[in-house]
Amino acid sequence: MAIEFPIYLDNHATTRTDPRVLAAMEPYFTQDYGNASSGSHVFGWRAEEALQLARERLAQAIGAEDAREILFTSGATESNNTVLFGAVAASEKKTPHLITVATEHRSVLDPCRVLQERGARVTVLPVDAGGLVDPEAIACAIEPDTILVSVMLANNEIGVLQPVEKIGAICREAGILFHTDAAQALGKTQMSVERMQADFVSLSAHKCYGPKGIGALYLRNVVRRKLQPLLYGGGQERGLRSGTVAVPLAVGFARAVELCAQAMPGEGRKIWELRERLWQRLQASLDGISLNGHALRRLPGNLNVAFEGVDGAALLAAFSKVALSSGSACHSSATEPSHVLLALGLAPALAKASLRFGIGRFNTDEEIDWVADHVIEVVRTLRAKRQGASSAKV
Ligand code: PMP
Repeated sequence: MAIEFPIYLDNHATTRTDPRVLAAMEPYFTQDYGNASSGSHVFGWRAEEALQLARERLAQAIGAEDAREILFTSGATESNNTVLFGAVAASEKKTPHLITVATEHRSVLDPCRVLQERGARVTVLPVDAGGLVDPEAIACAIEPDTILVSVMLANNEIGVLQPVEKIGAICREAGILFHTDAAQALGKTQMSVERMQADFVSLSAHKCYGPKGIGALYLRNVVRRKLQPLLYGGGQERGLRSGTVAVPLAVGFARAVELCAQAMPGEGRKIWELRERLWQRLQASLDGISLNGHALRRLPGNLNVAFEGVDGAALLAAFSKVALSSGSACHSSATEPSHVLLALGLAPALAKASLRFGIGRFNTDEEIDWVADHVIEVVRTLRAKRQGASSAKV
């Protein structure tokens, strides 16, 4: 099969919307375009029906019993903000305390920082060299004023899967709210809100071949009163997220999740094989490379590699024919090394000289082989240049 350039290997940043998802959404833009809150005519009824079905499909995908536990939002960023700001606002504690982890997404860490500036207390726990947080450390960090623990399911840079089931059990036992950001995990791993004992789960459509601009928040029924809304207005989404729901996007979101469920686990296996193919080829030809993040407890499509002896900026700049990233695309304009890789203990220069390969549904063997050869060539060239430069100085 002919390769189309540039090759897309940035599937953690976002994914291509699956054509079948696009087809499912289309009628809700062109024919059934009603507002799901319009109760007085057929346009509204059809939109509401489609929304209800989307809610049910999403609930089913994450093992939620009641479709009303799914609230549609604009994405995982909004879901994370809703939980963190909403739980602090609803808390009766004078100085509410939150626990999170150093490798969380910015849409968790930044709200935590702002809440801290406003008087809350936040404990940010470290991770080990593989990127995992110790559940025991969470248990030890719980204090009388702790209201919420927020730990992601799958990391967006290193793909590492946190031990959320153990953490959920600790929180439930202690009577503390547990939130997990599962934006990267949805559609790629089996997920059960029951097994995770999660009170809140953040989800996003565009990471699993759905449209951008829609996400969801799973909210366990019994904790409804533990959140105050961020948005006030028409009272949609059980009063927790006012605003007209994006019905076409919700339909696409549900279709995307349904397709992932149908494709799993075969698709996961195929993607995992592509990742292994890439990793083995790189290892066979290059010295001085290492895998960032735990080797086994990770998403199938994630490969994050540190390259010794090359300059980070030059490395990324060399890839005009491959779309990939170093660190998180969400702050790719920043020249700072990735906070996730620093939390693993990497030196700043090595963190900058790391690449995140995000393999997805539409990648092929041919693309992976081309990328492997290209990376090998680029790294060899950059290392040779560097050596040339340092010997010239001598
Ligand atoms: N959390 C994680 C782990 C993510 O990877 C992302 C996307 N980079 C987000 C939250 C934000 O998701 P969204 O783009 O849907 O707001």
